[in-house]
Amino acid sequence: MQEFDLVVLGGGSGGVRAARIAAMHGAKVALCEKDRMGGTCVIRGCIPKKILFYAAQYKSILGNAGAYGWKIKGISKNYIELIKNKNLELKRLESIYAKNSKKAGVKIFYNEAVLKSQNIVNVGNKQLLAKKIIIATGGTPKDLDIEGKEYCINSDQVMELKKIPEHLSIIGSGYIAIEFAFIFAALGSNVTLICRKSLLRGFDDDLISLIKDSLALNGVKIYYNEEVKKISLKKNIKKLVLKSSNKTLYSNEVLVAIGRVANVKKLNLKKLGIKLTKQEAIKVDINLKTNLNNIFAIGDVTDRMNLTPVAIAEGQFLSDRLFGKLKMKRVSLKNIGTAVFSSPPISSIGPNEKEALKTYKNLDVYESKFTSLKYSIVNKKIPTYIKLLVNSNNKRIIAAHMFGEEAPEIIQVLAIAIQANATINHFNDTMAIHPTVAEEFVTFKAPSRKLKRV
Ligand code: NDP
Repeated sequence: MQEFDLVVLGGGSGGVRAARIAAMHGAKVALCEKDRMGGTCVIRGCIPKKILFYAAQYKSILGNAGAYGWKIKGISKNYIELIKNKNLELKRLESIYAKNSKKAGVKIFYNEAVLKSQNIVNVGNKQLLAKKIIIATGGTPKDLDIEGKEYCINSDQVMELKKIPEHLSIIGSGYIAIEFAFIFAALGSNVTLICRKSLLRGFDDDLISLIKDSLALNGVKIYYNEEVKKISLKKNIKKLVLKSSNKTLYSNEVLVAIGRVANVKKLNLKKLGIKLTKQEAIKVDINLKTNLNNIFAIGDVTDRMNLTPVAIAEGQFLSDRLFGKLKMKRVSLKNIGTAVFSSPPISSIGPNEKEALKTYKNLDVYESKFTSLKYSIVNKKIPTYIKLLVNSNNKRIIAAHMFGEEAPEIIQVLAIAIQANATINHFNDTMAIHPTVAEEFVTFKAPSRKLKRV
């Protein structure tokens, strides 16, 4: 049996960071990965999705080229080329993940890991003796429990399709559903979204309403307050029957994007007595420790804030804390910015208006909707909307929301100001960079609305 100071389960962003940092602190580290190094973000999530998002952007760029004097003849799309190039990039990133881990001294075992006991990890036919264990096995798409679910695909499979579906139905209305609705609509699919209530629960209402308009503008058909009752297959076409209206839809592909579940099933956690949450994710304390002293969990497998940078920060914190000499600051899950890569994207940091009013009695809303210079001379104008929520009592910015091109890039930078407790006066005192879209954030004259908790 091989002995290690640390065995990490999962070679995604969180697991790799934890393993590398521990090894760099001098620990003897093993990492077990059953699939490809890189995990959800690199192989099945953020990175391939963003490449497809960029591909989708060309529809608008090429569509507007004429107004800028470019005559482009004979445009055609080569979807296979796109998928091939995307996959080459994933391969490159995968090898970097493996290379950097090995360079730091981490021993990688490419096999499924199971916890045999509190200190023994079985990986393939090998047994590893572990002083400490970090579970970073991430999550997996949730299945839809209806008749005909086997005819659906999930977000892993939608990025591996061999051709652009003529008609794509998407069940769900969260991050993944909205992002792929925009991507495939731009690539040429007729997209239908089946939304059981509203879109993008948790986002600010003003952003949601702009996303609704934008989906319509991009030809996406949306069924609200609707679910799918059953799906059947006839000659390669999927027939969907809706629950409320009993309507029938026909589709080449059906993407299910109704959330994700923690990858815990095969780890043997229940037998070891490791406590899970109601959603069957691993329960951890503020130090990311499970109820067993030497076993920890980070990232999506704990289902708190399922974002790559959170998993990476947790991996870093944990390995620094367990194997380093410095006393590290815990990872705060407050004020985390987020983005939906729609067309154009939306991005937010801080609470939406309704949520903000639960904490703050009086709010000043600074907002602006405008057409940026880029769209001034084109026919298909895309609006930009920006909003700051400010605590009326001390003028601190508590949230920033944006719908518009480069929103995630701009909100990322505003996040620093919010983290540093900036007030609206700091924004007003900042000289604008002209002409930009972001300058609108520093040229507000007065709030457009004042909100009061009733
Ligand atoms: P989300 O949690 O974002 O959204 C799930 C959606 O599915 C909601 O609209 C929900 O509706 C709906 N839903 C849930 N159950 C059903 C059901 N039985 N029938 C119909 N609809 C249902 O999940 P996603 O799958 O979109 O994404 C998973 C996670 O991945 C995200 O939460 C995020 O953490 C991460 N992610 C982040 C991205 C980013 O940062 N850009 C991009 C993609 C993913 P309701 O609101 O009514 O519950």
